[in-house]
Amino acid sequence: MGLMLVAGGAGFVGANLCRKLLATSHEVCCLDSLVTGRQSNIESLRGLPAFTFIGRDITQPLDLDIRPEVIFNLASPASPRDYLRHPIETLAAGAFGTHRLLELARRTRAIFVLASTSEVYGDPEIHPQPEAYWGRVNPIGPRSVYDEAKRFAEAMTMAFHREYGTRVRIARIFNTYGPFMRPDDGRVVSNFCWQAIHGLPLTVYGDGRQTRSFCYVADLVEALCQLPEVDHAAPVNLGNPAETDILSLAERIIAISSSQSRVTFLPLPTDDPRIRCPDIQLARSILAWEPRMSLEEGLKQTIAYFRALARGVVTD
Ligand code: NAD
Ligand code: UDP
Repeated sequence: MGLMLVAGGAGFVGANLCRKLLATSHEVCCLDSLVTGRQSNIESLRGLPAFTFIGRDITQPLDLDIRPEVIFNLASPASPRDYLRHPIETLAAGAFGTHRLLELARRTRAIFVLASTSEVYGDPEIHPQPEAYWGRVNPIGPRSVYDEAKRFAEAMTMAFHREYGTRVRIARIFNTYGPFMRPDDGRVVSNFCWQAIHGLPLTVYGDGRQTRSFCYVADLVEALCQLPEVDHAAPVNLGNPAETDILSLAERIIAISSSQSRVTFLPLPTDDPRIRCPDIQLARSILAWEPRMSLEEGLKQTIAYFRALARGVVTD
C-alpha cells in the first residue's frame, strides 16, 4: 500500500495514527521536530521496515524526496499549556508549516488531511456545534495563537483546493484522550489521571461546570484513516458527542482509579470555552462512522496507560 506522511507523528494522536496505518499495511513516514512530541512514542516503531522517521520542522524548507499518497498534517503544539509556552511556533506551524505541506501535496498530488480543531468555534453561542457555525474566537486573546493559526490553516487548505484543485480534507477534532498522551501536557484528562494515581488533589479550574466532550483516541484515528477515502473538502467534525462537565469528570476519574484524592479549585484560564460538544451528523453520514468507546472504558484504559508509565513500563 502507499506511503503515508504523518507530520507530527511523534505526538499523542500521531503515535496512535502511525500505529493504525502500519497495522493496516501502509508505509509510514513520520516527520516531527519533537517540540511537544516524544521520541519514546515512536521508539518501538523505529526498527520496522515500513516505518521511517525524519526529524524536521515543518516551518523550514522541507526538500523531501518522497511521493506520499496522503499527507496528514498533525504538526502543531496542541494542549493549552504547550501552545501558551510556544505561541510564535504555534502560529508559524499553522501558517507557514501548513503552507509548506500543502505545496508538497500539490507537487506530489497527495491527498492533504489537516488536523484542525473545535477551537475554531471558540466560546460558542450554538450548541452542539455544527460545521456551518463560524465560531466566536477572541482574535487577540492568549488562546488566539492556536485558534487563529488553525483558522488560517483551514483557509489556506481551502484556498489550495479552490486554486489548484489539491485534494484536501479538514478534520475539526474535539477533545481527544488516551494512550501516548504526555502526563505533563497540562490537559484535563492527563492532569486528572496523573493526579489521581499519585494521590494528589485534582485541579479543577473555575467551578468545574464548563463542559467538554471527550473522544477516545482509537475512535478518532479510525475516522482520520477513513477521511482520505471520501471526496469531501470542507470541514468535518470528529469527536464524541457525550458531553460532561469538568467537575463530574474529576469525580469519575477518582472513582475509577479508586483514588484517595480530593478536588481543589483553581482560577479559570482566560477565554476558557464554557461549553463544547460536536454535532457529528456529517461524519456519521459521509464516513458511516460513530465513536464506540464509552468514557468509562476509555478512562480505564487511559488510567492503565498512565499507571504503566509511572512504573516506567513501556506500553506498546
Ligand atoms: P501533540 O503535541 O502531542 O502532537 C503534535 C506533534 O507535532 C508533536 O509530536 C510535535 O513535536 C509536533 N510538531 C509541532 N510543531 C511542529 C513543527 N513545526 N514541525 C514538526 N513537528 C511539529 O498534540 P496532539 O494532541 O497529538 O495533536 C495532534 C494534532 O491534532 C494537532 O494539530 C492538534 O491541533 C490537533 N488536535 C488535537 C486535539 C486533541 O484533543 N488531542 C484536539 C483538536 C485538534
Ligand atoms: N481543566 C481543569 N483542570 C486541569 C486542566 C484543565 O479544570 O487541570 C479544564 C480547562 O479549564 C478546560 C477543560 O478542563 O475547561 C479542558 O481543558 P484542556 O486543557 O484539556 O482542553 P481545552 O478544551 O481547554 O483545549
